[in-house]
Amino acid sequence: MSTIGPWAKTPSRGGWAVNDPYFKLKPRGPTPADECCRCSQLSTIYLAHVLAENPIHCGECRGEVAPEKIGFDDHTTESIARWNTTFGAVYSLWLDSGAYEPWAESELRSRDSAINRDGLTVREALSRYVPTSYLWFWNGSRPTSCPSCGSGNLSEQGQGLLCPRCWVSV
Ligand SMILES: [Zn+2]
Ligand SMILES: [Zn+2]
Repeated sequence: MSTIGPWAKTPSRGGWAVNDPYFKLKPRGPTPADECCRCSQLSTIYLAHVLAENPIHCGECRGEVAPEKIGFDDHTTESIARWNTTFGAVYSLWLDSGAYEPWAESELRSRDSAINRDGLTVREALSRYVPTSYLWFWNGSRPTSCPSCGSGNLSEQGQGLLCPRCWVSV
């Protein structure tokens, strides 16, 4: 019962816990100002689906980064949106804990699944603008090796670990 970390199955909005029991039945408004990045300079960002339209987050404050703040091209915008929607569909099946949960979890964990392969491609595209890491799904205990390349050579990064070779974090 001790699921911890960014992918915990607790009610959340943008990865932040919410207390409203009817949260799931209410429209999602704009991201509250205090959950948005207001750093004057972006040093690193990370890509993570958080049940919202924008999966780009600041590596410093963990706030949502407005796309305008980076200013990428249309192709990058399109691939970010596409990945975020597809990843979100699979992630929702995992959250639902129903018949599709085992399948969804194996897709979320697999380094060969389309959602993770596409996610790494999007990460690479964003890296042309700001150094970008990809927050990999995990459940239970935090992985001690890189889910993408298998390397055990991970460095500490904030509350998590980063594979410096793949820019994958867990
Ligand atoms: Zn920030
Ligand atoms: Zn790696």
